[in-house]
Amino acid sequence: MPPFSYLDHLECSECKQCFSADGVQTFCPNCQAPLGAVYDIAMIKKNLSFSEFTTRPGRMWRWHELLPVKDPQKIVSLGEGDTPILHLPRIGAALGLMHLYLKDEGTNPTHCFKARGLSAAVSKAVELGIREFVIPTAGNAGASLASYCARVGLPAYIFMPKDTPEVNIRQCKASHAGLTLVDGLINDAGAMAREEAKGKNWFDVSTFKEPYRLEGKKTMGLEIAEHFKSDLPEIILYPAGGGTGLVGIWKAFQELIQFGWLDDTHLPKMVAVQSTGCAPIVKAWQEGKDHCDVWQNANTIAFGIRVPKSFADRMIMRVIRESGGSAIAVDDTDILKAQETLATQEGIFACPEGAATLAALQKLREHEEITTDSKILLLNTGSGLLNQDLP
Ligand SMILES: *Cc1c(COP(=O)(O)O)cnc(C)c1O
Ligand SMILES: [Zn+2]
Repeated sequence: MPPFSYLDHLECSECKQCFSADGVQTFCPNCQAPLGAVYDIAMIKKNLSFSEFTTRPGRMWRWHELLPVKDPQKIVSLGEGDTPILHLPRIGAALGLMHLYLKDEGTNPTHCFKARGLSAAVSKAVELGIREFVIPTAGNAGASLASYCARVGLPAYIFMPKDTPEVNIRQCKASHAGLTLVDGLINDAGAMAREEAKGKNWFDVSTFKEPYRLEGKKTMGLEIAEHFKSDLPEIILYPAGGGTGLVGIWKAFQELIQFGWLDDTHLPKMVAVQSTGCAPIVKAWQEGKDHCDVWQNANTIAFGIRVPKSFADRMIMRVIRESGGSAIAVDDTDILKAQETLATQEGIFACPEGAATLAALQKLREHEEITTDSKILLLNTGSGLLNQDLP
């Protein structure tokens, strides 16, 4: 029987030290940096081809050989993945772009792309014997964890800022997750979660503090490669908070190249989009740094990207550099305008984070050569329904 997963080991994103994938792992203790999953490239090349994935049913988990779970019985799924990639003809025409697309992650369970990461992380943790979960969250990751834990009948303890959108609070309460509202931001929620977790068996699924949420997010990149085939977009704009999506999409392209299924000559430029009210990645990019400083007084209506400093900041900066991309900040007024444009011109009710990518596209044209023929992909990370308490 061929293996269900070709996961081989884990590797530190900084010092490249190897860690076993057979036990519970968090992050590299030496570098305080994320671990990445490494697959058996030789066996994948020998046994698999890209085309066989594309004819299978099963949404995200049809990529199981390239995901970490070894026992199919352990998969915790709500039908995530296989989100549409939509052409934006009317907005494109207004901007003079014939090939403008949007991948709409709002159609995922929990209405947000966080579902992909938490399906992967909860499944693998369950396989490794974890029975209780904790997460500090800006909102959507907590709501997803609550759903996937409920799905498998295990407790979730969620710490979120008390000004998190009411919808996220309701999502957590609906599945009876343990919910603590914190006076502060996601990093304050993280500090409180760590304090409360002391002496308990809570497994921390914070962004990049365990290796497998990234693997779930990676499937967005696999779907993008599948959809566009060898003719990938020139530019992908992504609303970056913790950066799992940005790093995950890039990881997918790198793996496809390693497996011999993608040509490395025309990879997209990866553009990180943030709000001017919380733009640590943009600041680091402008200053030519390889890491981010903690952003003070973070404030934006786009809660999902209200992340003062990512644990994977060095990985994010590397992806931007390696891909020839950039980082752009847009203000909340422009985000709301872009949200309205997507809704009125294309019928897509995007979340503010996703709408930020359209706002950023306008600014990107000031320093990036974009022609009528340029193929550009916006990532809408969630549904506009998640932010009902907006003005
Ligand atoms: C979490 C989140 C983001 C940011 O994703 P990262 O992978 O942490 O960069 C963007 N949009 C929404 C709606 C989110 O919930
Ligand atoms: Zn290390």
